[in-house]
Amino acid sequence: MKSPEETSVRDQKFAADRMLGKLAKWLRIMGQDVIYGQHLSGYGLLRAARAENRLVLTRDRGLKKKQPPDFLFIESDHYRDQLRQVIKACGLRPLDKAFTRCLECNIVLEPHSKTSVEKIVPPHVFATQERFSWCPKCRRVYWPATHHQRMLEELKNLEPC
Ligand SMILES: [Zn+2]
Repeated sequence: MKSPEETSVRDQKFAADRMLGKLAKWLRIMGQDVIYGQHLSGYGLLRAARAENRLVLTRDRGLKKKQPPDFLFIESDHYRDQLRQVIKACGLRPLDKAFTRCLECNIVLEPHSKTSVEKIVPPHVFATQERFSWCPKCRRVYWPATHHQRMLEELKNLEPC
């Protein structure tokens, strides 16, 4: 079995237990591939992780007894500390792939030309934004906006010194 350090390749994939929703969301904001959901808990989570070679992120102290695949026990209840722990343990760079993945579907976004989103996004967004991307699954359109800026600040604070 490999430790998280040895598997810290760029395409490390994760499976987060259902107590870690906010951590999962922030990992997706960082562009990381992480599965998460109410249906993913206990053995279901372990099965899914094993099938796709994902590192299990868990707050479940009893997990060890379930013969899990590689896992990282998350120490803190607070998502910022949780993120810091995962970033450190896996050698992630928070800004490298930020905003490249759909936060709902966990799918890599594709670029979308400005003209093609004219009827989809609000007029003020169309007028002020130049770069758009979208999720091929749910078709949600993404663009850099104010909340995006706040997320960016948050990620900068998480960059390893
Ligand atoms: Zn989507």
